[in-house]
Amino acid sequence: MNVIRSKQGSAKNPAYMDFADPGVWKSILDARRVFLFLDLDGTLVEIAPTPSAVDLSAEGRRSLAELTTTPGILVAVVSGRRIEEIQNFLRLSGIFYVGLHGLETLTPQGERICHPVDQEVIDALQSLLEKFNRSISGVPGIFFEDKGMTLSLHFRLAKKEKASEVVKEFVRTVATFRERGVPLEVLQGREVVEVKPTGMHKGKAVAYLLGRYGKGALPIYMGDDVTDEAAFQSLGQGGMAILVTEIPRATAATYYLRNPEEVHEFLKSLIHWRGKTT
Ligand SMILES: [Mg+2]
Repeated sequence: MNVIRSKQGSAKNPAYMDFADPGVWKSILDARRVFLFLDLDGTLVEIAPTPSAVDLSAEGRRSLAELTTTPGILVAVVSGRRIEEIQNFLRLSGIFYVGLHGLETLTPQGERICHPVDQEVIDALQSLLEKFNRSISGVPGIFFEDKGMTLSLHFRLAKKEKASEVVKEFVRTVATFRERGVPLEVLQGREVVEVKPTGMHKGKAVAYLLGRYGKGALPIYMGDDVTDEAAFQSLGQGGMAILVTEIPRATAATYYLRNPEEVHEFLKSLIHWRGKTT
């Protein structure tokens, strides 16, 4: 079974990012440009019982908007959600939107870049959806989110035992598709399990954007989930990877912050410090 987990070889416990300490800002202030990559759920917003129930404060919105106009900062929001959904929620212009773990990207100039997906993958996802929609009908708290090129099974509101039974069966069924050669992989997220085509992940999307638009920029990536580990790894030595987690765990990130509230405090400080350099 191809379940993505952080590579334990490069994983260690991160240090708390004490951004009140001017020392942590040195590399950020020295950089000519900063390319800031932000995950959405669990990073910019608290995880909500359902994907549509997430919330962002007016203050958070204001500082994100300010960030997009701060000179020398490029911003990308990188999510497993579809681009349109992220756009409708954030309503920000002048940023990169990366959706479906990098399968689709929209540049600030409006160029849309799509990673090709085989028809057999789309067919397999539809077949999984049909089969499991039948088996979860009547089970409270478990539901699918059909994103076309990926499929998410949410179970945050379900009884634990029932959810684990359904998820096990779901993962087993995906394995049967894989055995038949369909290039699918499973991502285990925070009370969501997602199936997506192989060959693309957040790390590749970040590396692509850095190579094409961020030459010479200091990359900063903030994310909370296992799916963000590939992105942490893609930054390389010079980058700044920040995991968002209440409880520090083994990760490829160097630093951690505890929650989205602290992420927004960090972003406000970033605007403050970078604003001074211009
Ligand atoms: Mg997340």
